[in-house]
Amino acid sequence: MGKIENILKEAKNKLKSADISVKDAEFLLSNVLGCSVSQLYTVNTITDAQIEKFEYLIDKRLEHYSMDRLIGYTEFLGIKIPYNVHTLSPRQETEIMTDDIIKSIKKNYSEKIKVLDLCTGSGCIGLAVAHSTGADVTMSDISIDALDCAETCAIANNIDVTILESNLFDNITGVFDIIISNPPYIATSEIDGLEPEVLYDDPMLALDGGDDGLDFYRRIINLAPRFLNPKGKLYLEIGCLQAKSVTGMLKKEFGNIIVHRDYAGLDRYIEAEKL
Ligand code: GLN
Repeated sequence: MGKIENILKEAKNKLKSADISVKDAEFLLSNVLGCSVSQLYTVNTITDAQIEKFEYLIDKRLEHYSMDRLIGYTEFLGIKIPYNVHTLSPRQETEIMTDDIIKSIKKNYSEKIKVLDLCTGSGCIGLAVAHSTGADVTMSDISIDALDCAETCAIANNIDVTILESNLFDNITGVFDIIISNPPYIATSEIDGLEPEVLYDDPMLALDGGDDGLDFYRRIINLAPRFLNPKGKLYLEIGCLQAKSVTGMLKKEFGNIIVHRDYAGLDRYIEAEKL
């Protein structure tokens, strides 16, 4: 067995016994070596400094530092979102929803449409939509720190968007073809039980959805019809047990309600059309 394979095997064993995905070892080593995961087994030299760095990263991963904190960024639909302490780290589940929205925009609209990303956080959703569809995207958040991160990311990736400080719809004007949100949706009492990676790295403001976790859905669904064009669409990321409650809230002013699942088969986002 070559040196790299040995180092990887040892790291994977450590992660496995701590119940952490062994794949993380491959991502971290490819990051240290500056190659892709698929190229890892074709590289045949590694310096002592690289081994030391890799071992340091594995130690930190064993302390439950999140992957994006260790690597310094998350790749979200081709956009690099730098790690920061002010916003939720972009999730793969959110990537699924955003990718579906992008495909639907490309298929159903020929003109430039207006899109609002509420609770934008790092800006991952709005930036990816603007980048891939050329839509006129407004991204808002209550947190100035989050908006700073979103703006930095927009500039670094050369994506043209409007960024606005707003407590949900408070400072929003005009109407949109699509409103998207991945709001905080964890019930306050459940926050302490989240994985250490989430508790250490993601801000409370981005997680806490009130007593039953549904506060933001109530507020968004109540006001969204006023900010949507006729037949405008609303997309909401949800917690896996929230589909029924959120669907119930939507029924008054929305139709064509569809609950979408993620790769794990769990309810993950809802789309609905303004009646
Ligand atoms: N919209 C951002 C994301 O999807 C932030 C979500 C949040 O802060 N709850 O990652």
